[in-house]
Amino acid sequence: MAHEIRIFGDPVLKTPAAPVTDIDGKLITLADEMLQVMYDRPGIGLAAPQVGIQKQFFVYDIGDGPATLINPVIKESRGEWVYEEGCLSIPDLYVEIVRPKEILIAAVDLNGNDIEIEADELLARLFQHEFDHLHGTLMFERMTPDQRKEALTEWRRMRDEPGATPKPKAEKRKIRLT
Ligand SMILES: [Zn+2]
Repeated sequence: MAHEIRIFGDPVLKTPAAPVTDIDGKLITLADEMLQVMYDRPGIGLAAPQVGIQKQFFVYDIGDGPATLINPVIKESRGEWVYEEGCLSIPDLYVEIVRPKEILIAAVDLNGNDIEIEADELLARLFQHEFDHLHGTLMFERMTPDQRKEALTEWRRMRDEPGATPKPKAEKRKIRLT
């Protein structure tokens, strides 16, 4: 099944997803298909609502191999870290966002095992970004009011001018989080 990445403005991105109740072959296939979509873009994470699936799971790979987290819960968070965050559902927009530096996340893996992962920096950021997607939250909501205003203006500019390119400062940016 072909999956299309939903873009900012699609109501599915603002809708909280439902917990996964069954880890069956269908879910495993979906996770695999989502990984292919993610690698194709390329991205390092992709949450189910981003392909229109209202279920609480996401796939990711920051270079250590693919993995899937189901029904994640952020149990602890510490510190602060600034990272230039991007989103496959908000193409070409990158904003320096402050979030906790380290987190402890609990989830279920594709084998149905309960797992906990201590993550910091990039991985912690990815988990927080994907977790937000599962609850209908986009990175705009993690920006300061001034950042949000500027980011929305930039987004509309790129959307309304076909062929418009991101501001030059975006060119050197390589990593897109989901
Ligand atoms: Zn995203």
